[in-house]
Amino acid sequence: MSKGLLIVLSGPSGVGKGTVKKEFIDDPDLKLSYSVSMTTRKKRPGEVDGKDYYFVTKDEFLKKKENGELLESAEFVGNYYGTPLAEVERLRNEGRNVLLEIEVQGCMQVMEKVPDAVTIFIVPPSMKELENRIRGRGTEPEEIVQQRLAKAEREMEMSSNYRYVVCNDDPRMAADIIRVIIRRSMQKTEEK
Ligand code: 5GP
Repeated sequence: MSKGLLIVLSGPSGVGKGTVKKEFIDDPDLKLSYSVSMTTRKKRPGEVDGKDYYFVTKDEFLKKKENGELLESAEFVGNYYGTPLAEVERLRNEGRNVLLEIEVQGCMQVMEKVPDAVTIFIVPPSMKELENRIRGRGTEPEEIVQQRLAKAEREMEMSSNYRYVVCNDDPRMAADIIRVIIRRSMQKTEEK
């Protein structure tokens, strides 16, 4: 059995990564497991500890990072985020394809450590549409919305570092394109 793929999904805040992901994550042919990240950010309404994120304190986070327990980590709008390494390795060794949903700094670290990672960047149909989506979520104060928008502009400039760029005009269509990318990547590793 070959080791599972490492798939990285990125894109600016509000682009709809979660919605797109929901459309393909349970497809049995793709053998996907989602890597639950660790974060110091506050839980949003409806989020579940251990499912959406592992919600930890800053001290806990920094200790894990120091001990080399994170595959990558980044600070994003005042909070820390990181990918627990052991879980990713365990799943890949079981032949599962592991999906990370992380921001661009983290993806750059992954690319260095895992050069054959399948990296996918999701873009919005336009920046105006992205702004509408961020505001539409309505969960954050204006100051944070502004920070997320500024961050989004910078993140968009990093899209050329990714292997694939997919536009989320329609989440089901974007998910279909990602399915093709994953299936083809699986075939390529089998051919090796
Ligand atoms: P949010 O606070 O909206 O859930 O996430 C903010 C950003 O952090 C998103 O772009 C999300 O993809 C990213 N993110 C979530 N988990 C991780 C992680 O483990 N590492 C990194 N580098 N970014 C993450």
